[in-house]
Amino acid sequence: MSAKLPVEILIETVVNAGLCTRCGTCVGACPAGNIAIEDPLGACLPAAADACTSCGLCLECCPGASVDFAPLEKVLFGGAAPNRLLGVVRGAYIAHASDAAVRRRGSSGGVVTAMLLDLVGRGESRGAVLFGPHREEPWRGWGRIASSAEEIAAAAQSRYHLSPLNTALGEMPDAKGDYAYVGLPCQIHGLRKLQAAGWGRAGPGFSPVIGIYCGNNLYYEATRVMLRKLGVNRPEDLSALSYREGAWPGSFAARTADGAVRSISKLDFNQVIPFFINRRCLFCVDLANELADLSVGDGWAKEGSGTDGWSVVLVRTETGERLFDRAVRSRVIEAEPITVEAAERMHSHAFDLKKTGSFLRLRLWRGWGCAVPRYDRSGPRATAGRRLFELVLSLQFAVASSWAGRAVYRALPARALGGLFRLLRKRWMRSTARR
Ligand SMILES: Cc1cc2nc3c(=O)[nH]c(=O)nc-3n(C[C@H](O)[C@H](O)[C@H](O)COP(=O)(O)OP(=O)(O)OC[C@H]3O[C@@H](n4cnc5c(N)ncnc54)[C@H](O)[C@@H]3O)c2cc1C
Ligand code: SF4
Ligand code: SF4
Ligand code: SF4
Repeated sequence: MSAKLPVEILIETVVNAGLCTRCGTCVGACPAGNIAIEDPLGACLPAAADACTSCGLCLECCPGASVDFAPLEKVLFGGAAPNRLLGVVRGAYIAHASDAAVRRRGSSGGVVTAMLLDLVGRGESRGAVLFGPHREEPWRGWGRIASSAEEIAAAAQSRYHLSPLNTALGEMPDAKGDYAYVGLPCQIHGLRKLQAAGWGRAGPGFSPVIGIYCGNNLYYEATRVMLRKLGVNRPEDLSALSYREGAWPGSFAARTADGAVRSISKLDFNQVIPFFINRRCLFCVDLANELADLSVGDGWAKEGSGTDGWSVVLVRTETGERLFDRAVRSRVIEAEPITVEAAERMHSHAFDLKKTGSFLRLRLWRGWGCAVPRYDRSGPRATAGRRLFELVLSLQFAVASSWAGRAVYRALPARALGGLFRLLRKRWMRSTARR
């Protein structure tokens, strides 16, 4: 019997095992162009053709089944010790873009877009690898290389659906020079594993690598269901779709061809999470994007301080520090330093979900016979109460994301669950901030 090809092992142990994050790294890495994402608005999974040359890169770079942070951190940060929740941090800030238009178009403070515009405007980056609007279907995102200010500005805002960003790397094996890169934690885990395997050594440089915080990601079906609840039958009927439009934290807003806008606030949109979350996200242990040069998330400490958005920024490497400091000095970005403790408190509920909860879920679901990823990290000791909470939460996710759970949810009006979700978020934030 012939030995299995690496890509066959990848499909069996990651894709079929339910461990695919949908980062797209295997697709972008394959020198034979042998892997593609199938059904991006459905299961959005990689599938292989029959041109494999057995190089092994797809399996080596995949972050789905395992991530060993320590060796990657050693390369990026030398001997610096990571903070348990945030990773390695040289400086923490609350910041936003100085340009009001960039700030208002951004998800939180428009920091990412302002930095990219600055880098490309100075000619230091030849372009940016980012998850911007798909060229033919602008109501969904796709991994691409943006090289003009217009393309970078059009990519602003978060797209809360499965995001195989790293497929874009497949367009650039022969590219030269520096590119900026923006991605979610799992996309950057894939990129860093790929770099560690030697990919791109003679090709493009990625500097800076800007990481956005990530609590979870959703099947595109979440978007479809919410659109239907708002009275829009198909995304194809839209002229524009954004998930964070208007005054921060913004709204999920669908604009139809006749100019009408149907919207629901971002915090109410979150009700779709238990029903349409990518199950792999339940086991993800990185919220603050710990392998980036700098990380950017919602600056919740400023919630309720007005309509202007704010981002939290964690500067991690020398490169990140140099470029962020320069953006502040040249007034591209307005920033106030904050303490590491303030950065921890601001996202206390999400850190609880990922830095305590994920490790408990890993054990729990493994015990239920499910495949789960492996990390070179472990969680803190948890009280019996916290373990019981995790059991209830896991059962809730399992029931809500089942066929029956989704069917019940589809029949409910959008306004029914929004208030409940806001209340639960507030309570969780309050209880975890006290610890
Ligand atoms: C799926 C997802 C989950 C998130 N979860 C959290 C969270 O739990 N807590 C939190 O504080 N912040 C979270 N964020 C980050 C937050 O929504 C903002 O992206 C972040 O605060 C940066 O805002 P900004 O205004 O500076 O960025 P902007 O100037 O709006 O730029 C955003 C950049 O993000 C890129 N982008 C958009 N969607 C994606 C995607 N799906 N994959 C990769 N890149 C993308 C775009 O290309 C753009 O360049 C999440 C983002 C996403 C996409
Ligand atoms: S050629 Fe290499 S990267 Fe492509 S499928 Fe085969 S093993 Fe994977
Ligand atoms: S590299 Fe990413 S997209 Fe490919 S199988 Fe692994 S997790 Fe999935
Ligand atoms: S929660 Fe983790 S695995 Fe899921 S999309 Fe975010 S970074 Fe990727």
